[in-house]
Amino acid sequence: MDLKYVQTTCPYCGTGCSFNLVVKDGKVVGTQPYTRSPVNEGRVCPKGTYAHEFVNSPDRLTKPLIKKDGKFVEATWDEAYDLIVQKFKSYKPGETACLASARVSNEENYLMMKFARAVLKTPHIDHCARLCHSSTVAGLAASFGSGAMTNSINDIAESKCLFIIGSNTFEQHPLIGRKIVQAKQNGAKIIYADPRYTPTARQADLYMPFISGTDVAILNGLMQEIIKNGWEDKEFIEKRTKDFEKLKEVVMKEDYSLENVSKISGIPVESLKQTAEWLGTCKPGAILYSMGITQHTVGVDNVRSVANLQMLLGNLGKPGAGVNALRGQNNVQGACDMGALPNVYTGYQKVTDEATRKKFIEAWGVDDIAEGKVGYTVTELINVLADKPGEIKGLYIMGENPMLSDPDLHHVEKGLKNAEFIVVQDIFMTETAELADVVLPAACFAERDGTQTSTERRVQRWRKAQNPPGEAKEDWQIICELAARMGYEKQFSFKSPEEIFNEIAAVTPSYHGMSYARLEKPEALHWPCPSEDHPGTPILHREKFATPDGLGIFAPIEWKPPAEVPDEEYPFVLTTGRILWHWHTGSMTRRSVTLDNEVPTGWIEINPEDAEELGIKNNEVVRASTRRGSVEIPARVTPEIIKGVMFIPFHYKEHPANRLTHNALDPISKIPEFKACAVKVEKI
Ligand code: SF4
Repeated sequence: MDLKYVQTTCPYCGTGCSFNLVVKDGKVVGTQPYTRSPVNEGRVCPKGTYAHEFVNSPDRLTKPLIKKDGKFVEATWDEAYDLIVQKFKSYKPGETACLASARVSNEENYLMMKFARAVLKTPHIDHCARLCHSSTVAGLAASFGSGAMTNSINDIAESKCLFIIGSNTFEQHPLIGRKIVQAKQNGAKIIYADPRYTPTARQADLYMPFISGTDVAILNGLMQEIIKNGWEDKEFIEKRTKDFEKLKEVVMKEDYSLENVSKISGIPVESLKQTAEWLGTCKPGAILYSMGITQHTVGVDNVRSVANLQMLLGNLGKPGAGVNALRGQNNVQGACDMGALPNVYTGYQKVTDEATRKKFIEAWGVDDIAEGKVGYTVTELINVLADKPGEIKGLYIMGENPMLSDPDLHHVEKGLKNAEFIVVQDIFMTETAELADVVLPAACFAERDGTQTSTERRVQRWRKAQNPPGEAKEDWQIICELAARMGYEKQFSFKSPEEIFNEIAAVTPSYHGMSYARLEKPEALHWPCPSEDHPGTPILHREKFATPDGLGIFAPIEWKPPAEVPDEEYPFVLTTGRILWHWHTGSMTRRSVTLDNEVPTGWIEINPEDAEELGIKNNEVVRASTRRGSVEIPARVTPEIIKGVMFIPFHYKEHPANRLTHNALDPISKIPEFKACAVKVEKI
């Protein structure tokens, strides 16, 4: 028997835990601890423990498929490539769009970005970061000059006060949850604000349930109380920031007195007072947030309010402090860093900057690339497909499943069906792949070499443990072969992910100092890492912010309600999210037998008082409806959700939460408002 252990990185959340894959006779059969991991120290959560179970699922795609007369038939790679090339070559620049993926490596995201801009010459490239943290990227960039988590994960344990808002850390980033426990054991105060009493709430010294969509009012109220008590960090504000007076003009208004904030949010005044006192007097303090903050039509406002609060308290640029935006998918940070976004190349170099555009033309050795304009975000792309048929004709989708992940699924389906030609590259036949014209079988995390960048900007390795099944190939190989057939063989002549990484490092200032050799020891580097002797940067903004003048910028933000609020017809607020046992659209975790056995079905969470008024009993199947559609779903009657708010996890194709959600967008980041829309629930 041939047995080996291959150290790699978990394919699920942005924590980026390491573990060993156990490989028996060439096949992945299990996971084992890898104790030298920089963050998780050998521990993993249930998703990581069972990450091997979907790898050899009989559902894996093993051959290219071409749709003929409405049915998929197996094809050779040559046949699939010939059809794709014939179609893509028939479209003008800008008539195609590409979706990259937070589930594949940095190298593969980089190549998809290069393919879109240099081969298809389209500015329309985006990925699912649009749906989770695009408001973080825009909001923190506006306040600090850099749109990423400011501190390291290990740093969280050093905090004296953790304010967790809109993040169910113990279920979504369990190994970051462990740092919360360590901080608590070190004497930190833990404050938790969320509409649901989640496992994270159980760790809190103070839990504040609140009405979804009232974040800015809460944050402004806390800032007013901090200023009234003189708890702001005057020296930090004076030396490191600007526009404090503009902030004060807004937050000191009567609208944000604790009494008014209590009426808006549902949080008792005493809880708000206690929170302000702990924030003001227990330093350093860190804020942890996730999609409860970002997924709103005011997502950027919410993020800037969080940034305001931490600048007010002087909680930046030091250990145990920071604005810690917990990124969702394993490589969503890296996909953003690689320029799989419509407004930037790698390392957030703007596409509208002509000198940068010329730099990429030269680096890639091409005559021209996509024009220097900002392309469509994925949310705008779906709208264009649905409302302006013919403008975008061809789609190339790698490892994304908008038919379950995006808001208002009827609208998404209408848009995708309007596309003339869709290529989907994935490991399973997803709900989106069902609508494709060509499906290409790809390798999964256990079958590829490469790098990924975790939520804390830590770049580390994925390592290949087995060969892909059947004729499936690694995404980077598929993109290179397709590019060669499109006439770009020289520009895509990479023989390994390492060669691609070297090109990334050459064109990306924040990755300049990284190489595969450096990522072997000490196994990871935090960007920015500008030179070969640079140790990486676990904590941002130590001396100055990344803004042109080095100052953090306070933003006066007024609270605005969600785009759709409850009314007589739809009297409750619907919010959506994830659970410990499943991951996003479930394409991997629902094929992991152990995980799916734990929680095989979706549900809608209803407060007992609301359930009683509606005459609904626990486990009864009910009809949840919004202006977009209806879902029949079991009710879970529980006091763990605040009265007036209901929750559905979005993992289940049998109970698709996103049939109900609203595609109202934040005007800056274009993130949809997944966290608040109006819903009604009826007995069937
Ligand atoms: Fe994987 Fe996240 Fe769990 Fe770590 S915490 S094992 S990265 S899912």
